[in-house]
Amino acid sequence: MSSYSPKTPNETVNYTEGSFLAEFTKKIFLLLFFLAIIVFVISFSLKSFLSGISPEKEFTLASQFYTQENYENLPQSKLKVVALVKGLSSQYFENIDIRVKFSDDELPNAFMMIGGTMTFTEGFLKLAKSENEIAFVACHELGHFNERHIIKNMGNAVGPAIVIALLDNLSGGGIGPMFSSGFNLYQLNYSRDLESEADDFALSCLNKYYGHVGGATDFFEHIKDYKTKIDSFSFKENKVTDFLSTHPNTLERIEDINAEIKNKKLDIQNTVPYMY
Ligand SMILES: [Zn+2]
Repeated sequence: MSSYSPKTPNETVNYTEGSFLAEFTKKIFLLLFFLAIIVFVISFSLKSFLSGISPEKEFTLASQFYTQENYENLPQSKLKVVALVKGLSSQYFENIDIRVKFSDDELPNAFMMIGGTMTFTEGFLKLAKSENEIAFVACHELGHFNERHIIKNMGNAVGPAIVIALLDNLSGGGIGPMFSSGFNLYQLNYSRDLESEADDFALSCLNKYYGHVGGATDFFEHIKDYKTKIDSFSFKENKVTDFLSTHPNTLERIEDINAEIKNKKLDIQNTVPYMY
């Protein structure tokens, strides 16, 4: 009877001295490469798919999730803003009744959400001195909506979100928090090009409504002073800050808008005062 005695494997089997680190680095690079491809493919296909959705389609789809806005109990100062937004948007969209919301946030801001909902903060209404400057900001947000910026931004954000979630899962929850703060900014802020595009749209929208562009840069002037007044701006950067964003900075933005006014030879007349 012969008993089986396993042979001790040679120590060099499956192990090449010195190559472990190189092998590891290679694998990491390969993994990153594939992740980059995944991000690119998802973002690209989602972006092309989402870009094909018209503002009307987006609004109709979103209407299923929103309840009808109730403007009955609003004070005059807010009703004025609602009427203004509806008037401005009717210049461009026949079948879209932009929903207007107000938030109690003291941070001056206005932003458009997916599906055609525009929100103004308390801080914004307090800072505004004319209907024209509110109109410019509302037009800027309509620009983001019309040019499909919000929906395209979503396409950009979903790819990295999936990869981050995947990595987070693989690492047992250690990766996600590292990305979350930067990721919020990425999701909510528009690039400089998109901001300029929305500002250009806003100028023609304002001009179409009033027949002149008086007050176009007023809100930026006010927010510039506000920014210098608050001590720490950075702690608020994770919020939806379309107008407090640092790119492009407020001064450059004012200069760009003024240059565009000059370039298009647009008329400037007196503004209509606004009191909150
Ligand atoms: Zn913007």
